[in-house]
Amino acid sequence: MATELLYLRDAYLRSFEASVVAIDEVANRVALDVTAFYPTGGGQANDTGTLAGAAVTDVRKEGEHVWHTLAGTLPAVGSRVTGDIDWDRRHALMRTHTALHVLCGVIWNQWRVPVTGGNMEPLAARMDFEFDPLPEGFGPNVERLVNAELAAARPIEVVFLPRETAVEDEDLIRTKVSMIPDSVTEIRVVDIVGLDKQADGGTHVRTTDEVGRVRVIKTENKGKGNKRIRLEVVDA
Ligand SMILES: [Zn+2]
Repeated sequence: MATELLYLRDAYLRSFEASVVAIDEVANRVALDVTAFYPTGGGQANDTGTLAGAAVTDVRKEGEHVWHTLAGTLPAVGSRVTGDIDWDRRHALMRTHTALHVLCGVIWNQWRVPVTGGNMEPLAARMDFEFDPLPEGFGPNVERLVNAELAAARPIEVVFLPRETAVEDEDLIRTKVSMIPDSVTEIRVVDIVGLDKQADGGTHVRTTDEVGRVRVIKTENKGKGNKRIRLEVVDA
């Protein structure tokens, strides 16, 4: 049975109960029927916290199961366990992930340039865009534009769309929604209302002002049509 991913519908769930469905003694990890722990993926780092009293040091999705690596004794298959997310880390990742979507929206609106990749840690991230070359004064300009959108307190809505609907949506087409495998019949969409809409499996804050502010740390030339932006997220 596939692990139900509770964070997809409620990113603010910090504590949950679950049943152990499988254990892996070699890697000292457990799979659950449901989880609020985010597994590494989509550029977002995994959650940490505690499960059945043991520290959770890594979370990975493999096939249909989410595996939680524990720094302690494994609970038995079939037992009920309580999980608690390290909320400071998770909320920092939510702020950072939303900041990156705001950055994508701003860059698309201003320069019509798509994103090519990215990665985030709590309150720090890098993102690559198809610029060639970077516009004059880009760093300070993009920082000012992003911070204006964050301060505007735009709501962020998470909706689930049938695949047929999602692939017809113009905003989603530009973010390459068609690349999602055909086997996915329902597509989760994160909509920063009026700014950026993407098919996305990550966790986000409720309004953009919850992010705080961003600081562009540096921009780097990673080759033709590939420019990297490094930023950090700070309190407003
Ligand atoms: Zn995302």
